[in-house]
Amino acid sequence: MSLRAFDWIAKHAEARPRSPAVHDLLSNREYTYADMHDRVERCALFLHERCGVGKGDRIALLMHNSSDMVELIFACWRLGAICVPMNWRLAVPEIAYILGDCKPKAVVYTPEFEESAKAALGQYGGEAMLVDAADGDPCLYESGLRAAYGNIPIIDHDMEDPWVILYTSGTTGRPKGAMITYAMQLFNAINCAVHMEITMSSRGVTVLPLFHVGGLCVYLSPILHAGGSNIIMDQFEAEEMLRLMTDRSLGLTHMLGVPTNYLFISQLPAFKDAQIDHLQSVGVGGAAPPLALLETYAAKGVMMEHAWGMTETSSIGTTIPKHMALEKLGSCGLPVVHVETKIVDEDGNDLPPESVGELLIRGPTVTAGYWQLPEATAQAFLPGGWFKTGDAARMDADGYYYIVDRWKDMFISGGENVYPAEIENALYRLNGVAECAVIGVPDQKWGEVGRAFIVADASAGLTEDRVIDHCRDQLANYKAPKSVRFLDELPHNATGKVTKHMLPRD
Ligand code: AMP
Repeated sequence: MSLRAFDWIAKHAEARPRSPAVHDLLSNREYTYADMHDRVERCALFLHERCGVGKGDRIALLMHNSSDMVELIFACWRLGAICVPMNWRLAVPEIAYILGDCKPKAVVYTPEFEESAKAALGQYGGEAMLVDAADGDPCLYESGLRAAYGNIPIIDHDMEDPWVILYTSGTTGRPKGAMITYAMQLFNAINCAVHMEITMSSRGVTVLPLFHVGGLCVYLSPILHAGGSNIIMDQFEAEEMLRLMTDRSLGLTHMLGVPTNYLFISQLPAFKDAQIDHLQSVGVGGAAPPLALLETYAAKGVMMEHAWGMTETSSIGTTIPKHMALEKLGSCGLPVVHVETKIVDEDGNDLPPESVGELLIRGPTVTAGYWQLPEATAQAFLPGGWFKTGDAARMDADGYYYIVDRWKDMFISGGENVYPAEIENALYRLNGVAECAVIGVPDQKWGEVGRAFIVADASAGLTEDRVIDHCRDQLANYKAPKSVRFLDELPHNATGKVTKHMLPRD
């Protein structure tokens, strides 16, 4: 059955034109649904009339989060075009690769990315209109919106059509473009609404990048689906984030961050006396949150909603009910209402509770596949439509899931599987460890052994021996790291996750 994808912003503009929709924090622009509808319409007209964009054409974006970016993404929806928000941390050849892969009709960029956008387009060598977008400046984007005039072609939307392509980080091999369809977004909006109680009164803050599912799909699009409002931060900044969390006059209800975001917030001096227990949904995911972090927030009356998800699942696949957050500390919860999950061994056989295996997921929020990569798409699924997540996980006897680690982060020491996340959890219980990451490094005797990278509070006077002794007290000996390196900071990607492949192995 072919179903139509309705335009959420247009619908809310009709019913509640004066309700707030989007607040761009950096430029302090606030738009109601009527404003947003008008800007999305003009943006769609501009893209259609000036850039020749029509149904199925791609539009690439290179910019930090902004309300402009939100309207560009929803203008694509209105045109039936496919939006490709690109990771602004990428180097020119990587951007050129994505442009070559998706072949956009237009590339929209903000001034800080002008050089990269132009250089990447040059390297790619294809034809695409370059559109500069800058808040308030007489840029092509803003003047184009002002001058937009005409009729948007009537689009025959189908729920199964792609709306967005999100490129996976590609830490191994080339990035792949995961297609996010209208149906996936609708079911994601329903999943989030059900589990995080999203309504037209919800007010979210979007702090993760909009080129990532964490920014776009949790909770920006579910809140826009419900007719609520979103504050858009251009990038994560701990102090500003804490200000938003504590300022009750803003009426903030929902937020999602990766563990490092919350870690950095908790290390601010102002956090000690900050009151944040009025926040309705404080979501954490994208990487394993240390148990000590969940406890720190719980002590402030905030039961974090620990969720698991990935680009290919267009956001959350499992989440913990708040009332179980302490009882099942560290669990990423149960599968959300419109997905199924299970754990299998390497031959794809179902595993009983408490066994560690690969997490599989299926349901309407799972990607339709990778852009123009039918083979990679086929390899990503097992028979029956089960998507292979590449995550090592276990389920307890009550059906609650625990992410043990990425399979590829696991290392083998003396024949034993070691999951770095478990060691990191132990390290976060050591006073003075501000941030840490553990990887496996080659070792003549054991094959591989753990190495801990630690950002330490100078005042704690941590030494390698103290760190190793602490781990030996907490963990089996073979899991304790054999070496420790102290760093000023850990490498992070633009979403805020630690990029372990950038840590030295020699
Ligand atoms: P991405 O596609 O960039 O969103 O990355 C998805 C990956 O992040 C997953 O496959 C997991 O390895 C990891 N991840 C997401 N949520 C969690 C979580 N709650 N705990 C541990 N790892 C997570």
